[in-house]
Amino acid sequence: MSAAIDHAVLAPRPPAAAAAPSRRSLLGLSREAMATALVEAGIPERQAKMRVQQLWHWLYVRGVKDFADMRNVSKDLRQLLAEHFEIERPEIVEEQISVDGTRKWLFRFPARGAGRPVEIETVYIPEEGRGTLCVSSQVGCTLTCTFCHTGTQRLVRNLEPGEIVGQLLTARERLGDFPDAATPQGAIVPSEGRLVSNVVMMGMGEPLYNYDNVAQAIAVMSDGDGLALSKRRITLSTSGVVPMIGRTGEEMGVMLAISLHAVTDELRNVLVPINKKYPIAELMEACRSYPGLSNARRITFEYVMLKGVNDSLDDARQLVKLLRGIPAKINLIPFNPWPGSPYECSDWDQIERFADLVNQAGYASPIRTPRGRDIFAACGQLKSESERMKKGDRLALAAAVAE
Ligand code: SF4
Repeated sequence: MSAAIDHAVLAPRPPAAAAAPSRRSLLGLSREAMATALVEAGIPERQAKMRVQQLWHWLYVRGVKDFADMRNVSKDLRQLLAEHFEIERPEIVEEQISVDGTRKWLFRFPARGAGRPVEIETVYIPEEGRGTLCVSSQVGCTLTCTFCHTGTQRLVRNLEPGEIVGQLLTARERLGDFPDAATPQGAIVPSEGRLVSNVVMMGMGEPLYNYDNVAQAIAVMSDGDGLALSKRRITLSTSGVVPMIGRTGEEMGVMLAISLHAVTDELRNVLVPINKKYPIAELMEACRSYPGLSNARRITFEYVMLKGVNDSLDDARQLVKLLRGIPAKINLIPFNPWPGSPYECSDWDQIERFADLVNQAGYASPIRTPRGRDIFAACGQLKSESERMKKGDRLALAAAVAE
């Protein structure tokens, strides 16, 4: 695939020396926490529930980002809200649009406490009939999966619930996915329905290492009176934090994806090193007991295709054996290269042979079409501004992709 960047709508800007926000953000709070915050700011307790209802509607249904636009709220109250709270979304540092319509945003969040502003990447993938937003849960990652670019960036910090929800709000704003908003001319989006119809917690970071914030963000995203995303359209992808998997099903109730990538502990210890702590047998046991599992609610197993590493037909046979009894779908991901990556993508013929074998065993095994490779937005390629790619690296990657 060629590696020409279609166009960058917003040019990168140097990091700002942003000050820590002094007003509390209302984004991402539960209704109860929002009511408490309003009462603490001086709003009468008997009004709190109604005010929360109003704010919820403006923030999450209308997509308003300024208290001044909340038209059914009195001027005095708008002023009080603006004095005590903020509803800021992330700053868009850069927006890149792939030739295939995939969009990648580099978002910046202000400093928290004594920290510094942080940057993360979020990706939008439009397809016929659906638009998927790949959301980040952490800045960097503590894990070091060897096929993943994010894994080379040390963890900076966890994202707050409002910062996770803010990625969805900003994406919808940029796409014109709120009432009365216009979609940018020429944008590639689904022909009908919501422009962001699905969310995958599959961006930067291990979501189960930021459990409480991710759970809170998902509760806000799936609230029926607000952003109203069905939990069947939210998928959380984990590298295999076994002790948290059951809780995820019980408390979040979302679809589950597992970054599997290998069928033996020996290889998975290298590709997904958390396997040393939670080996494959334990991971499979947790999957078998995932609450709500059925043929209609299958677990997705992600399997990156690495030439000569995990792509033999023996691997495919072992994969089928491993998944026996688990309602599952296997996503085969052609490896997306990044600068310095130690792997090559499997040959296309081999990927197809692998897929056929798994398919004949009764498992759906789609080969994921690489999306947004030209803007380094494909699976496993994300990494944030704090360790931006040097020009030489970009050229090396472009050459690798073109090959
Ligand atoms: S695959 Fe996920 S868990 Fe592993 S290093 Fe990348 S971001 Fe972290």
